[in-house]
Amino acid sequence: MSVAPIPTKSSTSQSVTTSPSVSDRYRLETTQLDMPPRILLGPGPANVHPRVLGALGVPPVGHLDPTFLKLMDELCNLLRYAWQTENKMTIAVSGTGSAAMEATIANSVEPGDVVLVGVKGYFGHRLVDMAERYGGDVKQINKPWGEAFTLEEIKTGLETHKPKVLALVHAETSTGVRQPLEGVADLCHQHGCLLLVDTVTSLGGVPLFIDQWGIDLAYSCSQKGLSCPPGASPFTMSARALEKLQKRQSKVPNWYLDMSLLTKYWGSDRVYHHTAPINMNYAFREALRLVAEEGLEERWARHQKNAELFWEGLADMNLECHVPKETRLPTLTTVRIPDGVDGKAVCRKLLNEYNIEIAGGLGDLGGKVWRVGLMGYNSRPENVLLLLNALKKVIFA
Ligand SMILES: *Cc1c(COP(=O)(O)O)cnc(C)c1O
Repeated sequence: MSVAPIPTKSSTSQSVTTSPSVSDRYRLETTQLDMPPRILLGPGPANVHPRVLGALGVPPVGHLDPTFLKLMDELCNLLRYAWQTENKMTIAVSGTGSAAMEATIANSVEPGDVVLVGVKGYFGHRLVDMAERYGGDVKQINKPWGEAFTLEEIKTGLETHKPKVLALVHAETSTGVRQPLEGVADLCHQHGCLLLVDTVTSLGGVPLFIDQWGIDLAYSCSQKGLSCPPGASPFTMSARALEKLQKRQSKVPNWYLDMSLLTKYWGSDRVYHHTAPINMNYAFREALRLVAEEGLEERWARHQKNAELFWEGLADMNLECHVPKETRLPTLTTVRIPDGVDGKAVCRKLLNEYNIEIAGGLGDLGGKVWRVGLMGYNSRPENVLLLLNALKKVIFA
């Protein structure tokens, strides 16, 4: 990009400008924001509840304003409800789910720690990558994409590798599998190991009990089961995990996600750390209020009922689910693409002709499945019927 030279007094020939001329190179002619009315039935984001959208537009106050501090406290308590935990350190990380994911790793893994990751899909691999970046001595146990680990397999993994941290994905969005977690923490704690769980596609849609199940570190996101835009992400850690953090030999190598600093901002000290995204927190609090109003058990039952309506409709069309019913998530269904059908073309047509977004497979399931999300506000019978009818037209027309 070249800037016009400053005309000198002696340059009499062309211009009378006395300052450098402004380049218009990036001054594009744009239209007013006008996005299509998509129905987001893929792996996320999901559609946002109108009350949450309303909260986004409320004028921001300062991030240390007493009214905002009160809102932060309310948000933490609503998160404790959604997660069923008494954990003191339960906050919304400023960032998407991956930021909260990185926060759990950064605050629990010290260089040289053995970290055992249960890999049965795409997000297990991401945990491996993150734990390695923080100096973890990462070991894996693996399952084919579409299966869950048994308690016995987890026990063998713990006995073989003797890890400091075991990381599991509760709801693997790449495969549609629900990993049963009952009994896992007892095994971990017998081996002096922390249990770290990805609850991104389960929080707000699938039964989940942080304290009862003994989970030490967990993270989630705002845009899937909680029907808020992406940008604020639940994080929680138990007293056990906090103790490991306090005993660290070295600083958490990530300043932004260091919970020993963030406790001072979210806790009673209120020491400035970073400016919380004010409006995202307004929106997120409203999304969590909707969860509390509905009630967790009612919400889980709604997700299960609408997912079953979808599965019945698929069966009527002779379409098969990739995951057996016992471990199939209600929030995310992987549907096998029938032989001879162009999976990508179906997604494209649904989007262009029906404004419906679904997704294709990732990794080992690339080209083999569609991924359909029925999460939060989107888990409604009218959405199920709309998608089934559109699928019927697009696949069999
Ligand atoms: C979406 C997702 C993430 C990452 O969240 P982002 O908000 O995309 O950063 C992590 N884990 C699982 C299981 C997910 O589905």
